[in-house]
Amino acid sequence: MKTIGLLGGMSWESTQIYYRLINQQIRDQLGGLNSASIVMVSVNLAELKPLQHAGDWPAAGEFLAGPAKVVEASGADLLAICSNTMHRVADVVAQAVSIPLVHIADASASAIHEAGISKVGLLGTRFTMEQAFYQDRLESLGVNVLIPPAEDRTMIHDVIFDELCLGVISDTSREKYLRVISDLTAAGAQGMILGCTEIGLLVEPQHTSSPLFDTAAIHAEEIVRQALA
Ligand code: GLU
Repeated sequence: MKTIGLLGGMSWESTQIYYRLINQQIRDQLGGLNSASIVMVSVNLAELKPLQHAGDWPAAGEFLAGPAKVVEASGADLLAICSNTMHRVADVVAQAVSIPLVHIADASASAIHEAGISKVGLLGTRFTMEQAFYQDRLESLGVNVLIPPAEDRTMIHDVIFDELCLGVISDTSREKYLRVISDLTAAGAQGMILGCTEIGLLVEPQHTSSPLFDTAAIHAEEIVRQALA
């Protein structure tokens, strides 16, 4: 089994999901007391958020490149950034190390293909919904992406940073998300990418008939697959 390197803390509310899912899957696949070999650096989101929101992506890249080197030096064989948004600087992080990076959008595209779907709605931070790094990657992998209108993007983004990353799960916010999901479905989306690792805490399969692609779960599964390969 390979040693898994995680960059966590973005937010820790979702990093604990990665930690649980990765260990559960290793136990399920190897049995008994088997658990994952993990090296993690968990960063402080309060220091990262201002860089993201100022659009200072070079500084945000450096913010993760240092921890990525620590993770590699501590023995990790592969690396994962436990955040969709921070894949904005995936290239910088990947270049800082010599171990492979497990890209969250690639794993999501594979899951979408496996479901036999080609057109999906994308929910995430404003950065993930609006910037090329995520959508273009999905489109280049044959996934057609619909994003919500501007006002809804603001609502979705604010719920992520003001509630979900703080562990606040609100029925009112869930209703707002479900309305956006239903609008995107009416516009032709055959499924929804929960393109922020905390959204699965709010919207679960029992809340909607739209197939959900929860990126935290999909990413964790791909990390385990590569660790056991
Ligand atoms: N976990 C988030 C994501 O998947 C948002 C928090 C962050 O900015 O990293 O995009």
